[in-house]
Amino acid sequence: MKREGQIKVDSENLFPIIKKWLYSDKDIFIREIVANACDAIKKYRSLCQIGEAEDDGAAPMISITLNPKEKTLTVTDNGIGMTEDEVERYIAQVAFSGAKEFLDKYKDKADNDDGIIGHFGLGFYSAYMVSDNVEIETLSYQKNASPVHWESTGSDTYEISEGTKTKKGTSIIMHISEDGKEFLSEYKLREILRKYCHFMPYEIYFDVVKEDADEKDEPKKEVKPINNTAPLWLKAPKDCTTEEYENFYRETFTDMNLPLFWIHLNVDYPFRLKGILYFPKQTDKLQVMPGEIKLYSNQVYIADNIKEVVPEFMMLLKGVIDCPDLPLNVSRSFLQNDGEVEKISKHITKKVADKLTSVFKNERKSFESYWDDISPFIKFGCIKDEKFYDRIKNIILYKTIEGEYRTFEELPKQDDKVYYVSSTEEQGQYIKLFKDNGLSAVILEHNIDAHFVTFLEYKESGTKFVRIDSEVGEALKSDSSDENKDSDNALIELFKKALGKEKVTVLVESLKTKDTPAIITINEYERRMNDISKIYGNMFGEVGPASETLIVNSGSSIIQKLSTLDEDKKELLCKHIYDLALMSQRKLTAEEMEGFMTRSIEVMNLI
Ligand code: ADP
Repeated sequence: MKREGQIKVDSENLFPIIKKWLYSDKDIFIREIVANACDAIKKYRSLCQIGEAEDDGAAPMISITLNPKEKTLTVTDNGIGMTEDEVERYIAQVAFSGAKEFLDKYKDKADNDDGIIGHFGLGFYSAYMVSDNVEIETLSYQKNASPVHWESTGSDTYEISEGTKTKKGTSIIMHISEDGKEFLSEYKLREILRKYCHFMPYEIYFDVVKEDADEKDEPKKEVKPINNTAPLWLKAPKDCTTEEYENFYRETFTDMNLPLFWIHLNVDYPFRLKGILYFPKQTDKLQVMPGEIKLYSNQVYIADNIKEVVPEFMMLLKGVIDCPDLPLNVSRSFLQNDGEVEKISKHITKKVADKLTSVFKNERKSFESYWDDISPFIKFGCIKDEKFYDRIKNIILYKTIEGEYRTFEELPKQDDKVYYVSSTEEQGQYIKLFKDNGLSAVILEHNIDAHFVTFLEYKESGTKFVRIDSEVGEALKSDSSDENKDSDNALIELFKKALGKEKVTVLVESLKTKDTPAIITINEYERRMNDISKIYGNMFGEVGPASETLIVNSGSSIIQKLSTLDEDKKELLCKHIYDLALMSQRKLTAEEMEGFMTRSIEVMNLI
């Protein structure tokens, strides 16, 4: 017998509002409907387990059928099903009150915050985002239950009548509206099914009724499910092979490169959390590429990159996290206010630190082999979260100019100074100078290192990081320098006059090396200010170039000869020595280069 009913809500125009607000993320209807189908199967299986229902032996499955000609999309499960009374209760009242709650909560915010909408599921009623009519055919698992048919066009009335189902379970038949017509495309559906349903726990089959099929033609059954019901994160870490981890990575993130290594999370207490975090291979040596962390709740996809759950710096990794304690319909505001969520985030950080430490301790050689690739993540993590730094500071590696990897403790230091190279190409001459003098320095070439160095100085007070071309006079100074103030002053005057550059400070030192007549050093502090200012687009206004010091090597034979030359030659050579020193520090400008070339000819003419 056909019966009409009234959906119990106050607002009459609920559906048009829902449709409008959810416009930005209609895709989620598929997750809601298929997740309901999974729940229905799960409920049935639980009842079988406790002896409340008799197992009919049918394999649990969900089939999704697209009929572009009829403009319908049908999701069928063989789960618990519903009696007429349950349809009334769960669909007409409970489900609808969920939708209403959503509206009440977000009425004011929704217009200006798309983020909320994307993470708030609407359950069954989200079907109306893409349909102008939805039918339910259902048969409860209970003995002697009768099939039920329910239908509503999304106004506040519905029709309920006898259904046609002969086997337990539910079919949701969505008559796709003009607004939702993109969901009549097989391609689009496959894409969203992959996104939202790829790891759902029961087999999902997807079929398309061909346009020219006869009425009586059954849709061609696909033989393979479209989902992976047992994603690797559920398996015990000790039973997973390298191949499985790599295959899972390729399947989940379309990345041709293999990951460097991974961390398998498996937590039961104080909350349940499983997942795999991969460290991807970096293709760009200087920039950090964004990662992708997919969040699931019981194998149902929630969203990507939820920074409330996953520590921000881990967004550079690629991974999956399944946290059944999170509600499916997470909204940003819920997550932000939830203490549990913060605990999850902290716990993930701790686990990652533990894993890194154990790899370092047990497999230092392989840890070193991928250090260059993983170090940007780690340094970024340290800067973002000091606790993370405190946990792992002893395993952070620094590569020396000799190509060795050292920890902070093992670093070559001179009077608490650590010399570093920010570009092996540009500072090549200084590296040679250091090596010739038996000195070491560490290579910190990545963009993140500029910040990391400052961070380290703050954390490890007492240690100063100085670039290899700054304040190096001290390090290179020969111990057996027999100082001669008069001749030093004469040299200083000579260079000052010849160069005529007021801003350049001239010093005389006896350096260990005899080959280099002079070197230029740059003030570390001013240079850093310049670098930072450049990164932020000169936000502190124009900062002048960092001040330069020319260190003249009194131990060099050329310098020693200088005083014996006549005035013209002295000036010529001073300028030339300065240019050579400048060239090992930076590229000459066009004008400087021209002067250097002309002078080179003059110098050659002296021979
Ligand atoms: P939620 O799933 O969050 O409870 P929904 O609006 O999605 O909210 O669904 C409301 C209720 O309708 C569900 O709790 C369930 O009892 C019932 N229901 C929905 N879909 C199905 C289904 N495929 N089989 C059985 N019951 C269902």
